Amino acid sequence: ITWTQEEGWHDAAVLPYGPIPMDPASSVLHYGQEIFEGLKAYRREDGSIVAFRPEENGRRLNASARRLALPELPVDLFVEGVRQLVTIDAEWVPSGEDQTLYLRPFMIADESFLGVRAAQRARFLVIASPAGAYFTGGVKPVSIWLSRDLARAGRGGTGAAKCGGNYASSLLPTRIAAEHGCAQVLFCDSATEDTIDELGGMNLFLVQAGADGAPRALLTPRINGNILDGITRKSLIRLAEDRGLAVEERDITVTEWREGVADGSIVEAFACGTAAVITPIRRLLGEDGLSIDFGEENSPGELTMSLREELTGIQYGVREDRHGWLSVMVTA
Ligand code: PMP
Repeated sequence: ITWTQEEGWHDAAVLPYGPIPMDPASSVLHYGQEIFEGLKAYRREDGSIVAFRPEENGRRLNASARRLALPELPVDLFVEGVRQLVTIDAEWVPSGEDQTLYLRPFMIADESFLGVRAAQRARFLVIASPAGAYFTGGVKPVSIWLSRDLARAGRGGTGAAKCGGNYASSLLPTRIAAEHGCAQVLFCDSATEDTIDELGGMNLFLVQAGADGAPRALLTPRINGNILDGITRKSLIRLAEDRGLAVEERDITVTEWREGVADGSIVEAFACGTAAVITPIRRLLGEDGLSIDFGEENSPGELTMSLREELTGIQYGVREDRHGWLSVMVTA
């Protein structure tokens, strides 16, 4: 679907997958005026297909659009675009554990104009791809790498938006993380170098134990204007509160993590996002010998796995969707 200053959104169409025409002077190619979303469609046992909280993605796309000076798209048009694609691609929605159709809605500015100003023409597109299990051979705790000097986004920047530029700036730190044997990079506030923001493509949680050693609270960095307001994060906060766990959305520091693991008050850590749902974290590594490690045993934390099981259970329809998070895309 196309947007122009004069006509607004118009010309919605479903086209066969293939290259899209683009003028070499198109704004997106020069100034990175681009935003995207990521969500999944799940096939339930009765054959129907559902998407998980697609309106949340639509709302977040609009928050990103505002920051990137792109036009907002009515949320019902967003969901309708997703629904049409899932309906047409229904045969590509796989069935089975951890099998999904990954959906990638995105918006690009495509005015042919070399001056630096917000484009007066944009396009919104949705593409899809079947996605298999993120972990093959069971969920395994990963190591992550703390990036103190390289940031993905700075204060007042585009950190809270889901725009391509944030991911461009996280590619090098992610490569450095991989060179240290780490699955993901963890970014921290570039001013304090100790306050944790988020991972390259996931939000972070720590599990705090009470005096009896049992999980008492989930700690997660607050939405501070610099991190993505993750839909998995938001959903897990709800599920944890339903269980009577306290959830603290606040500033968390590497120091607090280190001291908590040492004194036994921080007992689990995990990352969450649409792609991997929940990834248990075993250790945080970084420059100057930083190593915070939950220990040799290397098994995913109990609360981590039980939240993972609950959320995927809701997504695949084997657990009750008591918050009305599922949106039926294709009926059985
Ligand atoms: N932070 C970043 C930087 C991300 O790219 C993602 C993935 N979209 C997340 C967090 C998690 O967000 P969500 O749960 O909505 O997938």
